Amino acid sequence: MNDSMDDRARLGLPGELCTCGRQAVWVFTTRFGLVGSCGINDGGNDVGPCPFCSSPRKHFNALGTPERCPQYRLRPVTGGGR
Ligand SMILES: [Zn+2]
Ligand SMILES: [Zn+2]
Repeated sequence: MNDSMDDRARLGLPGELCTCGRQAVWVFTTRFGLVGSCGINDGGNDVGPCPFCSSPRKHFNALGTPERCPQYRLRPVTGGGR
């Protein structure tokens, strides 16, 4: 595990979201691109609808660990309707 917060992390800006849908406190540069983190690792405890796609449930891997939505965006487009 590499949990260092070095220059690949910065503070989240208003409107930038964690993969769980909360406001992002940190934003990391990953091989997937920019990914926000709210700092609360309970995203898997909320099985409500996915905030990023129309899925009625959030996404989990085979181990039950919460996964990023395939449609996750650091800054979801707002005001665009459906
Ligand atoms: Zn989160
Ligand atoms: Zn989703």
